[in-house]
Amino acid sequence: MAALASVTALTLAVSTSAGTGRLTAGTSTATGAGPIALPLSPALGPCMISGRPTVQMSEGIPTGRGYARSTGTVRALTLMVDFPDAPGPGRALDRFEEFFPQTQEWFRTSSYGRLDYRTETPIPGWLRMPKSFHEYGIERGAPFDPGYRQLVRDIVAAADPQVDFQSYDFLNVLVTPNAGPSALDTVLSVTFAGNTEAPVADGVSVANASFVYSRQDDGSGSYRRTGYRVLPHENGHVFGLPDLYTAEGGGAVGHWDIMSEDWGANNDLLGWHKWKLGWLDASQVRCVSAPGTAEYSLTPLARPGGPKLVFVPLDRRSGYAVELRTREGNDETVCRPGVLVYKVDADVDTGMGPVKVHDSHEDSGGCTRSPNVHAELSDATFVPGEEFRDTKRGVRVAVVGAELAGSYRVRVTRE
Ligand SMILES: [Zn+2]
Repeated sequence: MAALASVTALTLAVSTSAGTGRLTAGTSTATGAGPIALPLSPALGPCMISGRPTVQMSEGIPTGRGYARSTGTVRALTLMVDFPDAPGPGRALDRFEEFFPQTQEWFRTSSYGRLDYRTETPIPGWLRMPKSFHEYGIERGAPFDPGYRQLVRDIVAAADPQVDFQSYDFLNVLVTPNAGPSALDTVLSVTFAGNTEAPVADGVSVANASFVYSRQDDGSGSYRRTGYRVLPHENGHVFGLPDLYTAEGGGAVGHWDIMSEDWGANNDLLGWHKWKLGWLDASQVRCVSAPGTAEYSLTPLARPGGPKLVFVPLDRRSGYAVELRTREGNDETVCRPGVLVYKVDADVDTGMGPVKVHDSHEDSGGCTRSPNVHAELSDATFVPGEEFRDTKRGVRVAVVGAELAGSYRVRVTRE
């Protein structure tokens, strides 16, 4: 019972926050940053849904301005920071090695090699802040002002003599793990993305910065293998991805995207996010905007090449996404390979449930007991012979069959 109770508690504590920093779509001044140019295809136009301008961080395509570029070579400046009241234990590079090269490897796999994530540590030791950790007043959900503004100013001032900020697309701050509460109690890790209020260093705004605190260590012995995953989550915000967990936890998307759950075994991103980040070609996405019935082939999302995403727009703001998830690549916990159907609403803000996975087996309890994985949605996929139906909107997705090479065929009907 004790073990079960602790797993439940962890499940509730998995979230990391996008923070409440300014996420307004300002003009980016970071070197090489900005939205990527999506391959244009008129056929995909109706599927490029967007949110109203009041949405801070939207699932809309294309991503707004101000975020870091998510294709090609991007350079992350990684600094290890400590405080007079929390001096870094041991080597700062040991802290760095908790996250690298795993984070780069994760992005290489997820992006099919389209994101070449470089990182540099021009300051290999701990960068000591002038004030105590306590004085910055950093707590969960803390806004950029005044604590983070001061912290970023102090980081820039301390690093500037040795760092050319113009050389980097975004900043990773790996805070000494002994500053602040345990991640088991409170996850402080946060990203300020597209931040127009950020201090300027070497003529560039430090607009995109991910902060990692503590260690996401559930005590299961998997930390060395899985503890880095908070950084790909935080960097997801730097590239413009919203949080998919809500105040109720991971029940909207489960373990189907690292922006939903970043504790426990590895997971990938949704196909929608891969399109949004520029990791899918126009030819890999099918937009079902006209009434009728048609069959589509889907190849496993984790594998490079082939058709990946079918999208059925419901209006200018939302639609259904359809993709094939299997246990390979970054997807370690898939226990029921099959077709995942989820609703994307670009008008719903980060942390408010912009994506909802449709559960093909409601109240089943799921097919996994992997720690820190939202179990109920683990068997949300549809397998051959099963059909997703939204009778109100007149959308049906039937899984027609699986092919030898691993692809599936779906029949999509739009009334
Ligand atoms: Zn987050």
